[in-house]
Amino acid sequence: MAAQPQHLLAQPVEQIPTIGPKRAAALKTVNVRTLEDLLYYFPRRYLDRSLITKVDHLTAGIQVTVVGRVERYGIKHGRKNRFVLVVTDGTGYLSCIWFNRLSYWSKVFKEGEWLALSGKVTYFGGFQMTHPEFDRLGEEAEGEMVHTGKIIPMYPSSETLGKVGLDSRGFRRLFYNFFKEFRVNIEETLPDEVLKSYQLVSLPLSLTNIHFPSDQEVLDKARYRLKFEELFFLELLMAYRKHQNLTIPGIQFKNVGEYTQRLAESLPFELTNAQKKVLHEIRVDMRREKAMNRLLLGDVGSGKTVIALFVMLIAVDNNYQAALMAPTEILAEQHFLNIHQMLEQMGVHVVLLVGGQSRSERLQTLQDIEAGKADIIVGTHAVIQQTVNFSRLGLVCIDEQHRFGVLQRAELRQKGGNPDVLIMTATPIPRTLAMTVYGDLDVSVLDELPSGRRPIITTWRPEKARPKIYDFVKKRVDAGDQIYVVFPLVEESEKMDLKAATDSYEIMKKTVFSEYSLGLLHGRMKSEEKEAVMSEFKRGKIQILVSTTVIEVGVDVANASCMVVEHAERFGLTQLHQLRGRVGRGGKQSYCILVSYGRLSDDAKKRLDAMEATTDGFRIAEMDLKLRGPGEFFGTRQSGLPDLRLADVVKDFDILQKARNAAFELVENDPNMAFENHHALLNHFVRKYRDSYNLAGVG
Ligand code: ADP
Ligand code: MG
Repeated sequence: MAAQPQHLLAQPVEQIPTIGPKRAAALKTVNVRTLEDLLYYFPRRYLDRSLITKVDHLTAGIQVTVVGRVERYGIKHGRKNRFVLVVTDGTGYLSCIWFNRLSYWSKVFKEGEWLALSGKVTYFGGFQMTHPEFDRLGEEAEGEMVHTGKIIPMYPSSETLGKVGLDSRGFRRLFYNFFKEFRVNIEETLPDEVLKSYQLVSLPLSLTNIHFPSDQEVLDKARYRLKFEELFFLELLMAYRKHQNLTIPGIQFKNVGEYTQRLAESLPFELTNAQKKVLHEIRVDMRREKAMNRLLLGDVGSGKTVIALFVMLIAVDNNYQAALMAPTEILAEQHFLNIHQMLEQMGVHVVLLVGGQSRSERLQTLQDIEAGKADIIVGTHAVIQQTVNFSRLGLVCIDEQHRFGVLQRAELRQKGGNPDVLIMTATPIPRTLAMTVYGDLDVSVLDELPSGRRPIITTWRPEKARPKIYDFVKKRVDAGDQIYVVFPLVEESEKMDLKAATDSYEIMKKTVFSEYSLGLLHGRMKSEEKEAVMSEFKRGKIQILVSTTVIEVGVDVANASCMVVEHAERFGLTQLHQLRGRVGRGGKQSYCILVSYGRLSDDAKKRLDAMEATTDGFRIAEMDLKLRGPGEFFGTRQSGLPDLRLADVVKDFDILQKARNAAFELVENDPNMAFENHHALLNHFVRKYRDSYNLAGVG
């Protein structure tokens, strides 16, 4: 497969007539470097004539857009100085008020120019808008456009862009020239068969119409096609990766041997049906000659760790090493302690590799790994560092996937020949979505919790209820339970957060809980300190563990049956669910008390309501996705997913499914995209995605 090296669309913007070096430099600030980037710089919204309100139809309290000509403006002095702009649309006058940057605003507007102003209307002896959003429509010409019923595109701009004339209006002129005068030759990227089967508008037409729609219908069609294209290329990548995975020979794990048997016999519980089903799926994968690439989806507490154990032992039984990677040191240490305790007596050598180890410890571990003495290596991302050389790595198990990027996955694979990979999610993702977004992986689902679990009782309380909460906590501790008290800790305010947690710990220790034994745990502590605290908590020596979110994932202490989350309003929904998953692990009735402070935003209320309403992680994930949007939810950067400009994997799910079908069908028929009618597609794919996807082996 080879890509055409130069392409018209790859032309740098500075070479385009009417742009020049100054504008090109400003465009770079919004990542527009080539003609193609520019064509894909889409309007943020559209001004539709039907949505414009005439001044004589305004009422106070509503949110509207008014189009008017600038009549006059100036600074008004008074109790509070302000800048006032008066516009008219022929039916009346509207005053727009700004209270800040008065001298700046004085230079922004011109008498006679047309503006579109959006905001909430108030009435003080006349209609007003305070700090409206506005868009400059220019002089007569565009004023006309509005009145003749055209849909006007509104482009995102910035101060830097504004300075070189690229405000919304500047962009409109730029594109106008483009489409009317230069007649850019845009090549279709999607194959004919896809356009036909999915009834898509051509690329040239879509690009023209997204910038200059004549009516809503053509705009909708253009947007549909461009969303489809974005998602199609995403899924094409998935399809291609999946296909590639299948062509790379992997390890055949033939035996289920002694270790696996012994683990099965020594388990204190029977596996759930879901666990059995998943183990079977994995077993089939591992016996194949192809490398396994599987995603294990399961709710908090569904028993993923034991699956990982079996899977690693299968590798060890076949005389390979297995690595288990966790996202935090605490979690890696916990896994290590558990696994070490369970397996060492069987003669399986388990080692720990984390950042905070001493030099000599680390050296010894590295030697054991290289010499093949270590069978199971548990660690953080330290495991994939350059210095680690495996003797015969056969399997990698990644716990809590979404903190590991796609690239790290690739790095890992380069560590061993071609090890099998099992990725376990921390958080359930709606499964239909997982299958499309992680479309290059096979998916197994643990959709059942071990029996005998009682749903955790969750309540949300305001801060003033704290004395009652403390009474409740004391009763639980007196009854023999252990308690988590969790404080938020976010990067932006790390120092203050840490202080809040440690201060509260000191106060609680001296006052309300002076009769009890308390422990403190946070990420800034040394490995040994953390380990010591965790092991005391595990052994019941610590009754109340005050902690930051370091305990968020994976920590497993069955006797801890009550959790108090301070400043619960500051946590994300998925994070709260993760935290709550630390209790309710034994057979006891467990409690989660969410304490909120101050007045809450609507979203915060929705999150806390959701936590009270359900303990089902898949439902929580769906709600979280709706609240935050997919970019935040998946952490686009980390997950290695591309930034989607138009499409939204949740809202446009039906388009996503269609695009996925189209992409997978195409790769199935023409895995190398070698057919004549797929040349344009291949060029486009490689040109656009080479950097973002590390398309090794493509093009
Ligand atoms: P997660 O899926 O959140 O990683 P874990 O693997 O930590 O969950 O399991 C949660 C708890 O449930 C652990 O204490 C584990 O020993 C226990 N467990 C796992 N499988 C079963 C089972 N089939 N029956 C009873 N308890 C189980
Ligand atoms: Mg886990």
